[in-house]
Amino acid sequence: MRHAVGCSIQTKSYYLLIEFTDRGLYCEQGGFYIDPWKPVEKAIITHAHSDHARAGSSAYLCHTKTKPLLELRLGNHQYQTAEWNEPVFMNGVKVSLRPAGHVIGSSQVRVEYNGEVWVVSGDYKTENDGISGAFEPVTCNTFVTESTFGLPIYNWKSQSEIFAEIQHWVKENQSQGKTSVLIAYSVGKAQRVLNAVQHSAENIFVHGAIWNVHQALINAGNHLPAVTRITADTPASLLKGSIVIAPPSADGTPWMKKFHPYSVGVCSGWMQVRGNVRRRNADAGFALSDHADWNGLLQTVKATSAQKVFVTHGFQSVFSRFLNENGIAAAEVKTEFGAEDEKTNEDSNNVADEAIR
Ligand SMILES: [Zn+2]
Ligand SMILES: [Zn+2]
Repeated sequence: MRHAVGCSIQTKSYYLLIEFTDRGLYCEQGGFYIDPWKPVEKAIITHAHSDHARAGSSAYLCHTKTKPLLELRLGNHQYQTAEWNEPVFMNGVKVSLRPAGHVIGSSQVRVEYNGEVWVVSGDYKTENDGISGAFEPVTCNTFVTESTFGLPIYNWKSQSEIFAEIQHWVKENQSQGKTSVLIAYSVGKAQRVLNAVQHSAENIFVHGAIWNVHQALINAGNHLPAVTRITADTPASLLKGSIVIAPPSADGTPWMKKFHPYSVGVCSGWMQVRGNVRRRNADAGFALSDHADWNGLLQTVKATSAQKVFVTHGFQSVFSRFLNENGIAAAEVKTEFGAEDEKTNEDSNNVADEAIR
C-alpha cells in the first residue's frame, strides 16, 4: 500500500504527476520512483550519495557518469544510463536528466506527461565546479527542490576564494612541519578538494574510501590528479608536510594518529557556522559546499517559473514559508533524504537548534 505523505498543498483540483509516498517520489503513470528509500521495481537515481541511491531495487536509471559510482556502492544491478537531455520514455511519460552541478553525474529529473512538466532537483549547486557539469535551471510547472542550506545565513564565498584559503592553510602547516588532513565526502567534495590542492604538495594521500571512488572515476574515463592510497606501509617520512584527504567517518579515529603532527581542516557548508568547527574539534573549517546557498535556491526557484514548489530535504519549513510570503505557492514535503553521514546529521541539527529560534 502506498500512502501519500506530508503534502500540504491543496491537491483537490491539482494533478500530481509525482506523488510523495512512503517509498519515495512516485510517478504512477510512468511506473517509476525517483531516489526511493525502499526497494522498488524501477528507480531513477539523481546521484550516488547514500541518501539518494539505495540498494535493492530491481532496475535503475541514472546518468552515464553516475553508473560507475552506483556499481561501486550498490554492487551489480540492472543499470540503464542516459546522457543529459536524452529522452527516455516510460509508459508515455517523457523523462530526461539535466545537470544538477552537485557531484559527478548528478542530475535533476525532468518528467513530462500530457503537457505537464515536473522537475525533481535532487541535490544541486549553482556554482560550476568544473567537475559535476554546469547546473541549469529547467522551466517547469512544478519544481521539487532540496533546501539543505535553506536559511539566509548560508551565503557561500566563491570556490576560488575558498580554494585560496585552503592553499594558504596548507602552506602554513607545511612551514610548521605538519601534515594537512582535509576532511571531505568521498563522492564530490574529495574530488573538488583534490583539484584545489593538487599543486600544493609533492604527495597527496587519500583514505581508502576516497581511493575507491577515485579509481572508479578514473576507470570510467574521468581525469583526476594522481593520488596515493594510505596503507599500513605508508612511510611516515613521506607524510611530513603532505596532504591527506579523508572522509568524515575517519575524522577523530585512531587512523589519524599516523599523521602526527597534523592539522585538520573540515570542508563542508556546515562550517559556515563557527560552532560546528569547534564541535568537530577541527583546526580549520572551510565552507565549501556542494549545495546551493540561500540565494542559489531562491534564484533557481524563480528561474524555473514553476507555479508550484515542493520543498524537501533540509530547512523546508523556513524556505517554503519564505516562498509563500513572496508569492510563490510552496509546500514542504517530508522525505528520507538526509545527510551523507552521522557527523553531518549532527552539524545540521546543531544549526537547526541555534539558527531557528
Ligand atoms: Zn547529495
Ligand atoms: Zn541529499
